[in-house]
Amino acid sequence: MAKKVMVIPANPTGISKVAKKNGRKTRVAAYCRVSTDNDQLGSFENQLEYFRNMIDERDDWELAGLFSDEGISGTGTKHRSGFMDMIQACEDGRVDLVITKSVSRFARNTADCLLFSRRLKNLGIPIIFEKEGLNTMDASGELLFTVLSSLAQEESRNISENTAWGIRSKFQQGIAHLNTTSILGYDKGEDGSLVINEEQAVVVRRIYRDFMDGWTVSEISRRLNVEGVPGVHGVAKWYPSTIESVIRNEKHVGDLLMQKTYTSDFLTKRQIANNGKLEQYFIRDDHPAIIPRDEWDAAQLELERREAFRLRHGLRVTGSSIDDPFYSRVFCEACGGKLIRHYWKGCNGAFWKCKNAEKRKGHICQAANVRESTLHSAVVAAWNEIVDSRQDRLTGWEEALETGNALQRHRARLMIAVTAEGPLDTEVPELTRMFLEEVIVHGREELEVHFLDGSRVRVSFEDGAAEVA
Ligand SMILES: [Zn+2]
Repeated sequence: MAKKVMVIPANPTGISKVAKKNGRKTRVAAYCRVSTDNDQLGSFENQLEYFRNMIDERDDWELAGLFSDEGISGTGTKHRSGFMDMIQACEDGRVDLVITKSVSRFARNTADCLLFSRRLKNLGIPIIFEKEGLNTMDASGELLFTVLSSLAQEESRNISENTAWGIRSKFQQGIAHLNTTSILGYDKGEDGSLVINEEQAVVVRRIYRDFMDGWTVSEISRRLNVEGVPGVHGVAKWYPSTIESVIRNEKHVGDLLMQKTYTSDFLTKRQIANNGKLEQYFIRDDHPAIIPRDEWDAAQLELERREAFRLRHGLRVTGSSIDDPFYSRVFCEACGGKLIRHYWKGCNGAFWKCKNAEKRKGHICQAANVRESTLHSAVVAAWNEIVDSRQDRLTGWEEALETGNALQRHRARLMIAVTAEGPLDTEVPELTRMFLEEVIVHGREELEVHFLDGSRVRVSFEDGAAEVA
């Protein structure tokens, strides 16, 4: 299956696209090369026919020649007359563009591939490698040169082995060998491709699920450490940053982002971190996914939402987390401050107080101070109001399923499913964690509950009984 490489443009970019020939048609030469052994790309004649049709179909292209070599297994120097004729036609100025099926079908080894694609590039003639979606004149060509030079190094180390055409399988596998760090949930197959490691994939799925259920990354890491769940290196050593990088990793949805680093000089082969100077390359559906795309997309949006929430409320990046679904989710209407839980023995239950009320000097805020039981009752009353008005709200959720982004769809699906189960008698931490965005405390007996699907319910208490508005 052919993989499409998408180029993520650098900023600023300095590499131009294929030069437009003024007025006249682009003269296109096709080159194909068929090995006698284990040919997957169809017969020789089929390939020629394929390219002839492709060129005919374009109004702005004309055929400058079909060049081919047959029966080549890779190492020999014979049977390359078609290839050399094609190079000659290019050097004679009879060709504007070369198309070929794949990198592995172009030249007999990486050194030749580098040499001739560079030579044509210097003549201003792009080569398009159809299967890999690469064009030597645009940014994707730099990827090709990067990979080729890294493979050329490999080949020179293993000169005794028949590695002349090792590039074939590697390119077909999507160049996964470029990034060799371990990835939770995957092993590297014999050919360098990513293969799911089921034992670790269970942990990956759990991390995404816990995250979407409302656990913070620090809570997730702590729980995995407590349970002794082994990570990618076989030991239970989880940090909040580990969890976040698992959630952000595009490999879990089957994609591959390349050129996180690049070779600055093809002679010294120095690797430099790519912080936007060069394009990055993105292959969608490169390997089997552990997390379905919709769920992965929703998790990325949820990361963004939490970051926006953190900034809006001026919360710290990491704080101690206390497995309490109300932690960092209750705020003072008067000053915007976070409410903090207080509990003393002998006191009649815990209560939550605005953090700004804690300051001894100034007494910035005395507005918000609420019993924990009131907080719990408010969330239950608000939830039950949502359940009661379910019929009216269904339209909105169904619309979100149709037109919303992945996160809105996720929320709508959950609301439709869980509100169908009827009202609550008491606060359920799992549900609070999953559905509550925040509680805004207007006063001791007046609170506004915001749910993550966007629903808001105001609850006031009169003589201990909750009233929703
Ligand atoms: Zn306050």
